[in-house]
Amino acid sequence: MSSSTRKKRPKEKRPDPMQDLVANAVDFLTLGTEEFTARPKHSIIAFHSAVELFLKARLMQEHWSLVVSKTPDLASFQTGDFISVSFEDACHRLAKVVGSPLPESTRRAFDIVRKHRNKLVHFFQDIDEPTVREQIAVEQLNAWHGLVGLLKRQWCDVFDRFELDLEAMDRLFAEHRLYLKTRFDSLAPELAALKQAGKVLEACGRCGFEAAETQAVVGELQQTKCHVCQFAPRWLMLECTNCEAPFRVEGDETSTCSGCGTEFDQGDIAEIVDDDPVTYDNYDHSTPANCSFCDGHQTVVSFHDHYLCTACLHLSEDLSACGWCSEGNNGDMEDSMWRGCNFCDGRAGWDRD
Ligand SMILES: [Zn+2]
Ligand SMILES: [Zn+2]
Ligand SMILES: [Zn+2]
Ligand SMILES: [Zn+2]
Repeated sequence: MSSSTRKKRPKEKRPDPMQDLVANAVDFLTLGTEEFTARPKHSIIAFHSAVELFLKARLMQEHWSLVVSKTPDLASFQTGDFISVSFEDACHRLAKVVGSPLPESTRRAFDIVRKHRNKLVHFFQDIDEPTVREQIAVEQLNAWHGLVGLLKRQWCDVFDRFELDLEAMDRLFAEHRLYLKTRFDSLAPELAALKQAGKVLEACGRCGFEAAETQAVVGELQQTKCHVCQFAPRWLMLECTNCEAPFRVEGDETSTCSGCGTEFDQGDIAEIVDDDPVTYDNYDHSTPANCSFCDGHQTVVSFHDHYLCTACLHLSEDLSACGWCSEGNNGDMEDSMWRGCNFCDGRAGWDRD
């Protein structure tokens, strides 16, 4: 922020807009959880607003203009007369401007909450059905789990000063968890049959119920899928190149072999799993490609006839090239000639300059 904009915005006018935003977000989260049983429709709408406000607060911390959809104007912003950034754009700005993208599972959980809210606002849905209530419980718990990860870890330097009582907020989800318990109980015969068939069910890392089934995805890529809350974390089961002990890679910045303590970064992991590495005489390659899901640069490699992002463990069937910068990408590259990809602004950006 330049000193000239600071002068134009006297402190007494807006003491702490971030404080207002965060307080609002907490209010909506409380409302969303309180209305869950009595008025699920209100719950969905309020809960969605809470998620949106937390994202905006993070953008606002960077700069107020990031909260505005287009042509930011400080005067209109201060009177609240502006169109807010869309969810897609907020995700993009968090990745590209703030440099702290939503983890893929969190983005997906938020998107489900958003879509459910939109469906409700624009179409009729009978949400008094117990199965729908159960679905809302799962959706909101998943989004809450993602939100806690952001507030407590990824964005803690921004949100620490608001002294949010995350434990008290977590207790607001007691009713939601009751629905999961009902779901767990109703799944009992199905889970027993799985065990009978030799499947291993572990305690889920998110909901705690013994309903997480380990499944092989492709090659060394595995996942546990929880039958109760649908939490499905993925990991790679690799062999340490130093001591040959098996070690688990969960898509973190670095992974450490528990056998010998060797640390591997994402580049090392990419090297280990890449089935089709670039060599001196085959440099004309579609991989390493970029990842649209975590904004990884050159993190996508060939993996057992598929493509795997070694940063977020997203698996895709094929790659496309960006129509503008022609770099390989695992996302949808339709219209990329105009819109660009997550690493270029396309023709639209060119024309703007
Ligand atoms: Zn679970
Ligand atoms: Zn080792
Ligand atoms: Zn990725
Ligand atoms: Zn591009």
